[in-house]
Formats: sequence, C-alpha cells, structure tokens
Amino acid sequence: MSDPTTLVILGASGDLTSRLLLPGLASLLAVEPDRRVHVVGVDRAELDDAGWRAKVTEAFTGAGVPEDAAAEVAADARYVQADLLEQEQLAGLLDGLGGPLVLYFALPPQVSQKVCGLLERLELPEDTRLALEKPFGHELESAQELNVQLLKLVPEDRIHRVDHFLGVNTILNLIGIRFANRLLQPMWSAEHIERVVISYDETLALEGRAGYYDGAGALVDMIQSHLLQILAFFAMEAPASLDEVEVRSVKAQVLRATRVWGEDPTTASRRARYTAGRSEDRDVPSYVDEEGVDPANDTETLAEVVLEVANARWAGVPFVLRSGKALREPAKQVVVTFRPPRHVPTGLKDCTEPDQLILELKPGAVDVVLSMNAEGDPFELEQKVIRAELGKSRMLPYGEVLAGILDGDPLLSIRGDVAEDCWRIVDPVLAAWRAGSVPMQDYPAGSDGPDGWGVVPPRS
Ligand code: NDP
Repeated sequence: MSDPTTLVILGASGDLTSRLLLPGLASLLAVEPDRRVHVVGVDRAELDDAGWRAKVTEAFTGAGVPEDAAAEVAADARYVQADLLEQEQLAGLLDGLGGPLVLYFALPPQVSQKVCGLLERLELPEDTRLALEKPFGHELESAQELNVQLLKLVPEDRIHRVDHFLGVNTILNLIGIRFANRLLQPMWSAEHIERVVISYDETLALEGRAGYYDGAGALVDMIQSHLLQILAFFAMEAPASLDEVEVRSVKAQVLRATRVWGEDPTTASRRARYTAGRSEDRDVPSYVDEEGVDPANDTETLAEVVLEVANARWAGVPFVLRSGKALREPAKQVVVTFRPPRHVPTGLKDCTEPDQLILELKPGAVDVVLSMNAEGDPFELEQKVIRAELGKSRMLPYGEVLAGILDGDPLLSIRGDVAEDCWRIVDPVLAAWRAGSVPMQDYPAGSDGPDGWGVVPPRS
C-alpha cells in the first residue's frame, strides 16, 4: 500500500474548512474509503487533537463514510496550534512531515501570500503540493506576483489553484456533451450559434457574508472566476485526451482569445445593486444597509459583461456572463441560442423562435428547445422542449477537486497563466467601473433586475 497523503489544512478553524473542505473530504472518502489520508489541522485558534478529531468525525457522520474508514482517519488526525506568520512556528510545523504532502491554504488571501513568503526560507519535503483558494491576486499584476512567488516554492504542476466549479458534475458534463456527440460537434461554432448566455442568478441576498463579498462584488466573486471557467469549457477546442496538459492547454488557449466585446466596457458591461425588497419570502434590506457593508465600496450585487472569443471558431458571437443576488428566479445555466435556418418553407407557421440548448447547472438538466408540430394543423409549429435530467454527482464538488489534489493531478485546478488571464479579461471592466464610466443601477430585492435589463437569459 502506498504512503498516505498528508493533508495539512492551514486555517483549520475557518469557515471554508468547516463548511466546504471537511464535508468535501468526507464525501470523497464515502466513495473511496480505501484512500489513505492523514489530516493535520493548523490554526491559531485554541484546540487540541481531541477537538480536531471530533470536528473531523462530525464532518464524516452522516456523509456515508464507512465507520472503520472514518475511525481510522479521525484517530490519525492531528491539530497544531500555531501562528503561521511566525517563522519558527511554521518551521516547527514542517518538521517531521514527509511527502506526499498537501499544504492547503484555507487562510485569508493576504495571510496566504505572507506564509508563502516565509516558506521560501524553508525546505519543503519532496512531493509537496500547494492548494490555494481564490482570489488569486486582485488584478493582473498581483496575480502575476503571486505566481512568481509560488513558483519559487514548487513547480507549476504541483500548484493547485482551487475553483470548486471545476468539480461540479453539471459543468464537467460540458466536456462529454460537446465532444462525445456527433450531433452537436458540427454545430459548435459561430456559423450556427448566435449567442451564449452564461448566468448564475441567485435568490439569496447577502446572508451575512459582507466581510468577504463587500470587497469583491458580483463581477469578481462570480464572473472573473467561476463563469470564465464555464466559458472555457464551453468554447475550448477538443482536447486529445482528458490529460491535465491537454485540457488545461485548450482552456488557456480559448481564454487568451477572450476579451470584452468591442473592447469597450462602457457599452459591454452593466452593474446594479439591490434595494430593499422581498426575496425568498423574507424582507431584505437595501444592500447598503446590510450589516458590515461600507457604501463607499460601491459594490455591485448584479453584474453583466459581454465578451468575445476572438478566434476563428467564435468571432462575432456574444458571450453574455451574468450573475446577481436577491433576484426573483434562480437561473444557473448556459443558454445557447442557434441561428435561424437559412430558409423555412413558405407555408410553415409560427416558427420564428430560435432553437436553443439550455444546460441547467443546478439542478442538472439539458433542455433542447425546438420548433415542432402543434396540435391540429400539422404546418403550424410551436416550441417544444426535449429534456434530460442529469444524474446526481458521486460526491461534493470539493470532494472531486480534493481527489485531484491528493492524487497530484492538477486536471481540475486552475493553471497560473489562466489565473492571470481571467484578470486580464475583467481588469478593463473593473477600471471603467472604478472610474464611474458605467452607472450603478438599482433593483428591488426579489425582482428580475433593473428595468430594461430583462430576464437573462430569455426563456421560451
Ligand atoms: P476565515 O477567516 O473564516 O478562516 C481563516 C482562518 O485562518 C481563521 O480561523 C483564522 O483565524 C486563521 N488564521 C488567520 N491568520 C492566521 C495565522 N497567522 N496563523 C494561523 N491561523 C490564521 O476565512 P474563510 O475560511 O472564509 O476563507 C479562507 C480562504 O478561502 C480565503 O482565501 C477565501 O477567499 C477562500 N474562500 C472561502 C469561501 C467560503 O465560503 N468561506 C469560498 C471560496 C473561497 P482567526 O479567526 O483567528 O483570524
């Protein structure tokens, strides 16, 4: 049996660890109980081994991890109370740890970066991997600096920049549906596709997350990271295999060709913020009155950007990326609108609506919307939906991503050049917004957004 992988969670008392990382690990071990992992929690919070083991066990309880596997992992788990910004304490932590070793940075981003600086002076065990959470920098320049710093520690294929959207089965389904179906392959270009809308609209409002969200906003929180990853899967060329070099290279290629539509963020982007209203059957205060929000940050809760993938396959097709909070309807989907047929036989009625393919991300489903016979007159058409529900995923998205990290396979991790490119794409929008060139609009919580925006994407 191979050596267990040591997973060192830096920031073990934080929100990410308890809400996403430990449940993700539990869901992985429920599917793969033979996987051997030694979980070390590190944080400055006061806790001992017993307390940490109880926390790990709690995550496993109810997640379906077989009892003996859960007991084995929990018994082996260890907690280290340390201030990671103290060089000696950091050195002490690494003492005696061998590879394969994963240092998972579940720390505030500025702390992670400082810890990386301190790690430069220490010798890392053979086969150390680094796992980092977004944000990877806060614009292109800082993302580049972070990458330079990380590469001083380990080579690129041992750096796992985590975006849990890459572990979502309905997003990974894009690869299968695109490349394993002869029906769709020839249709996947500007010749047949008129526009693509990738949206992630939520009905939830801020839900007490001001501390993080008020400094990010919808553009950085969702579009700069998750939605650009979906765009990459949607628009990339076919990889020869599902090998990390292949897949990450074609993703990088398509993002390198992506830019703001017309290179003019003033016409290709919109932003808005919710005012008081009702959402999810609850009264929602105006965003600026939410606890912890600083109105001076001028943070948007709804963002929309139109992009172009300027290459031979996609030039001329608008890709609309949109995400917002406190909206009336959840819309987490990719809507592909096809161009109309070149000619429709004279005499056919009511077939002016375009064909669409709708990939629902949550819950997972695929809808094909086509014009077909209506009842009665065989030449009178209406739009009908052919629907397939997608199967449930085998584990949580964080479980899928962690599996790759523990195996040393960066297929589902963001490569450094891609992390930079995502900032290169949105930086002009951020600059235009900061300069006040794009007005901040408002919409009542629980509505479809500001007047005139319409429901994006339009549903037939
Ligand atoms: P938290 O602030 O909840 O957790 C960070 C933890 O690190 C805290 O327990 C904190 O202790 C500890 N810590 C801070 N400084 C040190 C130090 N010098 N030495 C030891 N421990 C320290 O943050 P989150 O868990 O929310 O976020 C962690 C990372 O994950 C961030 O990069 C965030 O952007 C990212 N992320 C978070 C998501 C979430 O839903 N929470 C979602 C996606 C990404 P203390 O409380 O004492 O400061």
